[in-house]
Amino acid sequence: MSCVVCFFRESQQKHLKNNAFGIKRFEKKLRKYKDEFIKGIRGIDSLSKCSCNKQYNHQGMVQWTDSFMHCLKKSESEICSAFDQMISIYDDFIQKDQKTATDNLWLYLENQDLLVSSEGAMTYTKLLFRARPKSGTFDENEIREYFHIPFSKRHLVGNQRFSVSGQPMLYFGSSVLAVAKELDKEPSELAIAAFLPSYSEYYHTKIFSLTNHISEVVENSLPGIFGAGSQLLYNDPNCAPNCRTISKDVHRTVLMQVCTFPVEYRGSFVAEYAIPQMLTTALREHGYEGIYFPSTRDYSDLCGSHRFSTHHFNLGLFVPYDFVQDTNEALLNKFLPFILDDSKGYVTSVDDVLNKCAEVTDFTKNSPHNNNDYVLPVCKLKLHIEYVKDATINGSRYFESDAGKIELELYMKMVSHIYGCLK
Ligand SMILES: [Zn+2]
Repeated sequence: MSCVVCFFRESQQKHLKNNAFGIKRFEKKLRKYKDEFIKGIRGIDSLSKCSCNKQYNHQGMVQWTDSFMHCLKKSESEICSAFDQMISIYDDFIQKDQKTATDNLWLYLENQDLLVSSEGAMTYTKLLFRARPKSGTFDENEIREYFHIPFSKRHLVGNQRFSVSGQPMLYFGSSVLAVAKELDKEPSELAIAAFLPSYSEYYHTKIFSLTNHISEVVENSLPGIFGAGSQLLYNDPNCAPNCRTISKDVHRTVLMQVCTFPVEYRGSFVAEYAIPQMLTTALREHGYEGIYFPSTRDYSDLCGSHRFSTHHFNLGLFVPYDFVQDTNEALLNKFLPFILDDSKGYVTSVDDVLNKCAEVTDFTKNSPHNNNDYVLPVCKLKLHIEYVKDATINGSRYFESDAGKIELELYMKMVSHIYGCLK
């Protein structure tokens, strides 16, 4: 028995999906996950009766989540329909053809009004990381070696969750830990660079967001809202999600969960990637420039990170073709790049970085100019440090681990650079 907070938590959904492991056909796995999901919704009980109530002990939050729970339970047919449509799109793909399936997926997104869930530039105007295994075969001081696979090496572009073989997509991780996990390597085995997207360049960019928004609201926002003494009712139409947005909330959730289904059987065709790849194709055709999604790797070795922490996200950008140059230089110019220099070891502490951040914010507070491009990443960095500094990974503090130490080096480069630009 769980409450809505526990049910929508990423680990719980992963657990439900893993229950379908062992089933050989993905179409049957999806049906099994649907059954588990519906069973889970039927079994949801009030937050007041859940073990997590000790943590979220607020009457307003119990009331909000109870109303949400009743609304969810009444929406079972909507939940079924969301799953059925995903399954039908996958069935189209395996039984008919990719074009039919992609068109149906797009129609579905339009009909359910899911295309407005774009991520604002505010979300990802922060330092993003790229890495590749150290091999001695490339120039580690050349930033292009860390950018997208050159157009002349298109044959090396493999099959990934949101991109098809041969079509380069530029994936970034929101932490060094995330990129190391994606590559299944230790951070010390990687050559690493960081890229800061320019807020003003990305301000108007359409990025599709696949996030667990229900969990973000119920677990991340509500405790703070009620903790601060605010009154909020689930049927308040001015604050989403609410009883009127339930259909959209259900469809968004199911789409996101299906697109982040963990891979069990990996071959030249990966069934779990079929729907996400069609989503990419459809978004690309309709003017989107990328997609923001949570990593599907296992982060259970990281303990005690703050629930707000976004260390486990990926941003994938479509790479527009360039006829002349091997790298899309215009795309590269939208970022401030930083390459890790570990020749002197890792020497930067959390306090060093925070002190430098303070120098930047002291300066910008007194500045009459719009410094969003500089201030936002620094604010994001301060939050990131706050959210993970007490977390431990394999027993040691995050910023004492290789991943954390490498991040501090790169963050220091970023903040020092920003400070230099402002002065
Ligand atoms: Zn609970």
